[in-house]
Amino acid sequence: MLLRESSPFFTYPRILGHELAVEVIELGPTDEDHDLKIGDRCCVQPYLNCGQCGACLRGRDNCCIKMQVFGVPCDGGMREIVNVALKKLITAKHTNDELALVEMLSIGAHAVRRAEVVSSDTVLVIGVGPIGLGVALSALETGARVIAADISQWRLDFANKSLGIEHCINAKENIQEQLYTITADDLPIVVFG
Ligand SMILES: [Zn+2]
Repeated sequence: MLLRESSPFFTYPRILGHELAVEVIELGPTDEDHDLKIGDRCCVQPYLNCGQCGACLRGRDNCCIKMQVFGVPCDGGMREIVNVALKKLITAKHTNDELALVEMLSIGAHAVRRAEVVSSDTVLVIGVGPIGLGVALSALETGARVIAADISQWRLDFANKSLGIEHCINAKENIQEQLYTITADDLPIVVFG
């Protein structure tokens, strides 16, 4: 009951799972152009849009008035077989573990692209859970200086030692002082939180 009350998007019972690696086992009849083959491995774009509303027709399918997310208001991917529209499948020659990370990492890539981060920027990422790490990694790709902040020392250690994010600061300490020190009083120009 507590879970039911914790999110307005959920009803139960529900099959979870929206970060998916899948293998094509069957292709239904379609007149869409595609080059998918049985056995292809794919990641899945888990946002299901109607294709007919004003937002969809303008190419803004992320704003679809009937938007559904796999595994949130409808059943998701934690099962042996799922039926997925062709246009939601993206083939790639990677391992299942890698493919399952694509959705999470793409959120960070999209955020960094929208923020127009460039190599001369100093970027602060507040919170280095999976999404924050995706943001930080994409920001690093631009050549920017990246500072990761969190209140979990374990997460900061992981970001620093495993992912090579040089500046990891514990937000339980004086965060402003730490930022002044790292940036020589310049402070971050882009903040993700
Ligand atoms: Zn729509």
